[in-house]
Amino acid sequence: MFENLSERLDKIFRNLRGKGYLTEDNIKAGLREVRMALLEADVNFRIVKNFIAEVEKRALGVEVMKSLTPGQQVVKIVYEQLVNLMDTEGFQFKVFNNRLTKVMLVGLQGSGKTTACAKLAAFYRKKGIKPMLVACDVYRPAAVDQLKILGKQIGIPVVSEDTKNVLKIADSALSMADKEMVNLLIFDTAGRLHIDEPMMEEVARLKTHIKPDYIFFVADATTGQDAVTIAKEFYDKLAFDAVILTKLDGDARGGAALSIKAVTGKPVAFVGIGEKISDLEIFYPDRMASRILGMGDVLTLIEKAEEAIDMEAEEKLARKMLKNQFTLNDFLKQLQSIKKMGSLESIIRMIPGLGRKLPADLKIDDKALKHIEAIIQSMTEKEREHPEIINGSRRLRIAKGCGLSVTEVNRLLRQFEEMKKMLKKVNTPQGRKHIERMMG
Ligand code: GDP
Repeated sequence: MFENLSERLDKIFRNLRGKGYLTEDNIKAGLREVRMALLEADVNFRIVKNFIAEVEKRALGVEVMKSLTPGQQVVKIVYEQLVNLMDTEGFQFKVFNNRLTKVMLVGLQGSGKTTACAKLAAFYRKKGIKPMLVACDVYRPAAVDQLKILGKQIGIPVVSEDTKNVLKIADSALSMADKEMVNLLIFDTAGRLHIDEPMMEEVARLKTHIKPDYIFFVADATTGQDAVTIAKEFYDKLAFDAVILTKLDGDARGGAALSIKAVTGKPVAFVGIGEKISDLEIFYPDRMASRILGMGDVLTLIEKAEEAIDMEAEEKLARKMLKNQFTLNDFLKQLQSIKKMGSLESIIRMIPGLGRKLPADLKIDDKALKHIEAIIQSMTEKEREHPEIINGSRRLRIAKGCGLSVTEVNRLLRQFEEMKKMLKKVNTPQGRKHIERMMG
């Protein structure tokens, strides 16, 4: 996500930070480079012009020139202007659990609209909301089937009918939602490869008919300025409320994320960060600006950890570790909570100072985690609790069971032994006191 832009800005700011004091020329030269970096990130040129003018006005003022850390001050100003640029001011998506909220998703074919419907439904179900999906993309036959498959996969009902009359489908959905006491009704609407009048008219008719509480425009981030131009056209005809920006995981540049609010006047509300149903996040401009500037995104990381980790189990585990009773079963449980937080790469990139140091094209493979999991799962309960009984023939059986080599089984057992040895070292009276203090 935004790797190219992040790397460029990092280089520019490292240079500025390295100087004890900044002259007007230093700042202007630095900002010229920022301007180039933003243009290369495919940010709309008018937005870049205003952005740089604002930053320059503030950076040449007393707050920077007189500061003890002028380079740092410039970064702070750029951060604040980035947050402004993506500001969601005033927009709030509210779903109540005592009445029906109707939502329409609109956008071009391939933007990720159908996937976003399912992601949104699953996201709010986790918060105790009862969602239902409506298949109104009747011109792409696969879209209806795709929504039905996704609905089945996540156990959320999908309303579809064998007709091209979307108003009729909408009526059925509304009465079904009423009967089933649904709180969130999400309409997947017609998408085409290009904007065309009949599509727009149909979506507009559906809008007039169902009077949605919210319309989200779904945009594919990887298409950069094209996504922004299409957003503008959709906005002029449909006046949507906010944007769901998909495929941010594949967007190294960030042009759409940084331009869409300024061009349409409507903010990004959610972002898609992968193909999995759980790969949807609420969009927070400040966290995004932090990620772009390589400061990491601690808040999202903490939220993910809180969702994935059961604190009570963690405390129990910590106590077991202190008593040196940590087993392979505990190790497996730990791996599984880490996996729930997302891919290793997405976790690592959120760590302040670390994400930026990784090369943009580095792909961290989750295979090693999967291998460890498979090896432990091929062990018997007794072996997991007492790995010391795993002799040669057991190692062979485990390797066969998970389809990996004995060397890999040996490696895991060795690493586990080393970890236990390390725990023993920590497990001195001082070490214990320190850990107990941390656990309260
Ligand atoms: P629609 O034609 O707009 O309904 O688009 P789909 O929902 O069928 O999505 C098109 C393709 O984009 C599918 O292969 C999805 O799996 C993929 N996709 C959707 N959202 C994301 C995302 O956030 N990240 C990635 N990497 N792929 C996505």
